[in-house]
Amino acid sequence: MQIVLLGPPGSGKGTQAKILARQLGVPHISTGDLFRQHLHEGTPLGVAARRYLDAGTLVPDDVTESMVRARIQEPDARVGFILDGFPRNLSQAQHFETILSDLERALSVVIYLAVQRHTLMMRLTGRRVCPQCGALYHVQFNPPLTQGLCNVCGAQLAQRPDDREDTVATRLSVYDAETKPLIDFYRQRGLLQEIDGELPVDAVTQSIGGALAMSHD
Ligand code: ADP
Ligand code: ADP
Ligand code: ZN
Repeated sequence: MQIVLLGPPGSGKGTQAKILARQLGVPHISTGDLFRQHLHEGTPLGVAARRYLDAGTLVPDDVTESMVRARIQEPDARVGFILDGFPRNLSQAQHFETILSDLERALSVVIYLAVQRHTLMMRLTGRRVCPQCGALYHVQFNPPLTQGLCNVCGAQLAQRPDDREDTVATRLSVYDAETKPLIDFYRQRGLLQEIDGELPVDAVTQSIGGALAMSHD
């Protein structure tokens, strides 16, 4: 299973990718998480990526593409992967086709999570993350059992700096200008499965399951 999750910031890619990764036994590869990890560890890649993450704009393609190329060749990704947040523009998508054909692999399906803009605003500004284990919460839609603390590991939850309102607006415009064209790109290749991402988390997981079953036929 080589799956790409496509959708605007806040559409639920991370939430669904974590569930699917567990169900399917393939790694969840989030380019955003990889960048944040590099940033946290202070690697040269992290230093180079910082200003783009802070601004809510895209990290340059060459940096992003070589990071993905390396990651999908790690042993755990031999059985497949769920890519969350890549590709994010047309040239990344084109380059990704080259990467996959070099590795003699192919995409199984692209799951597009469709969510309206006002829902995205609410989801992003209310998102909270566990800095320790990566679990995702929402102050309203998916609150932790104890306010401010992770259900899984007990750590203090945090807000991503780029989830504040001004950066969210930039990220949504970057999505419209750069990422949206990928919907047609993958539709033309017969890989796109559109899912109603407005539904509750469990219902979205169910419809993705249905779409994956169809893409097997
Ligand atoms: P993305 O990775 O696409 O940016 P996330 O999975 O991080 O999106 O979800 C964004 C926010 O919305 C999180 O706070 C998450 O808890 C919440 N969320 C995710 N899916 C749903 C859903 N189906 N209904 C309501 N809230 C959701
Ligand atoms: P979200 O889940 O809310 O869409 P991500 O965690 O995927 O956010 O991305 C956070 C930031 O990481 C982006 O705003 C961008 O700066 C950078 N980033 C993530 N994926 C890519 C990519 N494929 N190309 C360029 N930049 C990326
Ligand atoms: Zn945790």
